Amino acid sequence: MSSKRPAILGGAPALIDPVPLTRPTQTVNTALLSTFSDIVKSGNLTKGDELAALERAVCEFLGVQNAIAVSSCTSGLMLTLCCLGLRGEIVLPSFTFMATGHAALWNGLTPVFADIDPDTFAVDPDRVAEALTPRTAAVFGAHTFGAPCDVGALAKLAAEGAVPLVLDAAPAFGGTYPGGAMIGTGGTVEVFSLSPTKPFTTGEGGIIATDDAALARELRIGREYGNAGGYDSAFAGLNARMPELSAALGRHNLPHLPELLERRGHLADRYRAGLADVAGVRFQRFDPSARPTYKDVGLRVSPEEFGIDRDTLASALRAEHIATRNYYDPPLHRQKAYRRFDTGSWSLPHTEELSRTAITVPLWSDMPEHLVDQICDVIRVIHEHAPEIADRIHLNEALA
Ligand SMILES: *Cc1c(COP(=O)(O)O)cnc(C)c1O
Repeated sequence: MSSKRPAILGGAPALIDPVPLTRPTQTVNTALLSTFSDIVKSGNLTKGDELAALERAVCEFLGVQNAIAVSSCTSGLMLTLCCLGLRGEIVLPSFTFMATGHAALWNGLTPVFADIDPDTFAVDPDRVAEALTPRTAAVFGAHTFGAPCDVGALAKLAAEGAVPLVLDAAPAFGGTYPGGAMIGTGGTVEVFSLSPTKPFTTGEGGIIATDDAALARELRIGREYGNAGGYDSAFAGLNARMPELSAALGRHNLPHLPELLERRGHLADRYRAGLADVAGVRFQRFDPSARPTYKDVGLRVSPEEFGIDRDTLASALRAEHIATRNYYDPPLHRQKAYRRFDTGSWSLPHTEELSRTAITVPLWSDMPEHLVDQICDVIRVIHEHAPEIADRIHLNEALA
């Protein structure tokens, strides 16, 4: 037993400087600054050479025919569902970020939620199969926390139903599927986020990757208000353009990404080793031949085995100045925007359970190893004091 006393029980916090959940890693050098300066001086702040160059570089990096840079993953998903011309129902996980579902709602689609696999945190293809009806317009998967979902099984289901497979690949840029194919090459279309919490960022932005040339053409019109050039809009598009300064940041960051992802994998492995002997803490699982991006390190806390529940662990870590996130709680089907679609037919026991037990812990690409070690030690100390912490919580509740 460690001599440290958890801060939630009155001990000194383990960390003096607060540890954030994540932070963007950027390589700032004179080449980047001179590109920025050239762009600003040129007056071409949007729709310029940087955008085209980033799209070409991304096509090559991912091995896809078309990469369309947009203002965010959310706008990219909205345009994708719009340009696919979908009507009716869309089958998707509830255990995901809200923007996945929002894209469906903005397109007037009816969300049908399928439960997840509690080990991989990703939508379970068997549950997707049960949710398919003649009204299904698309299957919509998501690569939870940057680990690929079972794209082979989902693609098979989509093909059987003759509907597209759309993938919210927001956190997964640079990751690979089992066997080594890049994420971005799966399904009909994959949409990435380049917002600052993601491993590859342009400040704000998104990338739509697809081998469907006709869809790519529509998407390029869609990000330009639906105006193909004749000032006679073909459909109600968006302004979803990525500015030149962001595109330049993306071009500058792309060559560094493999190294950052390797480092994230190393840090995630360190968490896994550091917590291996702590009862009641399990890691998100994935096929060992896949490479996740670890946008988040997702853990599952079993209150019976760990001694306290996820929320209490989060409070105890906050007292130590360590940030965590209860991703994804509440899941989509319990958020206000989605409750009106509940016809009583949703059965989501694993989503319910995981939303109560999942927690993500700090990780960023240049996070020092010793911080991971310290966080693991603190979690172990909290576990060792779990009965006392649980008593304290019960006492506080009784007094409240
Ligand atoms: C980050 C994220 C989004 C949103 O991306 P934006 O670029 O901020 O629109 C959507 N879905 C998932 C799963 C995400 O992690």
